[in-house]
Amino acid sequence: MRVLFKNVRTSETSEPITLHAEDGRWTSVAFSEREADTVVDLEGGFVLPGFVDCHCHVLPMGLDLQAVDLSGCWTREEVLRTIADAAASHEDGWLLAVQYDQTRFPEGSHLTIAELDPVTKGIPTILRHSSGHAAVVNSAVLQIAGIEAETEDPPGGEIVRDPNGRPLGPLLENAMGLAYRAAPKPTVARMRDAILAAQRRLRSLGITCANDMATGSRGLEAELAAYRMAAEERVCRTRLTILWERVFGEGGEQPSLETPPEWLRVYGIKLFADGAIGAGTAAMTEEYVTGGRGMLIYEPEELAEKVRTADSAGYRVAIHSIGDRSTATVLDAIEQTPRPSRHRVEHVMVLDANLIERIQRLGIAVTLQPEFLLRFGHAYKRQLGAERAARLKPLRTLRQAGIPVGLSSDLPIVPGDPWDGIRTAAARPEGFDQEENLTLEEAVEGYTRGAALANGDEDQGVLGAGCWADFQVYDKDPIQHPDAKLVGTFVAASAGED
Ligand SMILES: [Zn+2]
Repeated sequence: MRVLFKNVRTSETSEPITLHAEDGRWTSVAFSEREADTVVDLEGGFVLPGFVDCHCHVLPMGLDLQAVDLSGCWTREEVLRTIADAAASHEDGWLLAVQYDQTRFPEGSHLTIAELDPVTKGIPTILRHSSGHAAVVNSAVLQIAGIEAETEDPPGGEIVRDPNGRPLGPLLENAMGLAYRAAPKPTVARMRDAILAAQRRLRSLGITCANDMATGSRGLEAELAAYRMAAEERVCRTRLTILWERVFGEGGEQPSLETPPEWLRVYGIKLFADGAIGAGTAAMTEEYVTGGRGMLIYEPEELAEKVRTADSAGYRVAIHSIGDRSTATVLDAIEQTPRPSRHRVEHVMVLDANLIERIQRLGIAVTLQPEFLLRFGHAYKRQLGAERAARLKPLRTLRQAGIPVGLSSDLPIVPGDPWDGIRTAAARPEGFDQEENLTLEEAVEGYTRGAALANGDEDQGVLGAGCWADFQVYDKDPIQHPDAKLVGTFVAASAGED
């Protein structure tokens, strides 16, 4: 199968060019229109390799897309009307809503069961706060979850109550878990639909391959079945990074996928070494402004043991590590494996010269999420103070050290348009060291070739011979023109497929 793309513009030449693909991959062996099975006229469209999101959460993103979206609601009445409409057409199960935010209401106070119950008509309903740190539930949820006046607040959480101790509906921080744990797990069919919704959304953003970075939290077997079914639709290439416990923990299982690996394959195993800066749980060498140094999730030796287990079973490991104290223990663990450069570290937000030198020496790839500076910058400054916050995510220094960097979003934690990440990497927000800016071209490379290599996909991320012919088409050069429009995203079929 030979496809010829004509009237293509790229940053390489000023004149339109022709690109050739054979069996889904770019080829340097040119053929004529007559020799082609298909000729596609891109009409002067500007072509970039498909974006690769090397760290996001595909199924959770899709489940959010299936939920009721409250982001357009600015008053409690609007929220209640939206929920009432959703309840009226709701078929079965729980009603889940996202992007609830009471701080937008003129009065600023949370909704309560007194307002929510009349519109939800007994359907268990959870409104998740846009921050992810709170939720409001109705009486049906309180009842099913057994949350009553006598229920104690869980550690690190609060059940908001009336003066008599009766729950009012809002659940803060860890108290949310009481409600979510009582909610039914989505069925495989529902997860497949969610994954497809996420993949379609990713593709609409120009993304042709995504790495799901915590596969298995809803049951590994069921999730793998759902990903396999979704892969049949050939929307977006997908890699899975499976939670360590789901493979090596009690009742763990070896994943098996009988899908063409270019569409769906296991990338590796995910471990968490620490928490997050906003919550003060990323493990730091120096104290937070608000006190404490965060925490390591595992003792260093335990982490090293887990890495060894996965490594000797043949898996790559990707480790969440945000604080500098955490990253030091992560590098210790990776250093003990026979081939450290196979593994990868996620986020690495707080670094110093010594850590950067160690990462370089070990040949490890790191993945960063520039959009975080845009969305959470205020929290970083509050937690770390201006000086330390300014040095977060030193992309220029990492690049100069020759460290392989994959850029990514961490969707659905942020909206996740790659251009938001790219433009943030190239022009860090006020208060963040401008010396660490990348050029736009470098940032695009981080979101294409860099991210593909971080995923272990040598054959993605450039318009070069041997690589998959996955690409995006814009009406004009999106690097020069922020208003350029994405007009199409192509993901190549494999040999033998249409
Ligand atoms: Zn993540």
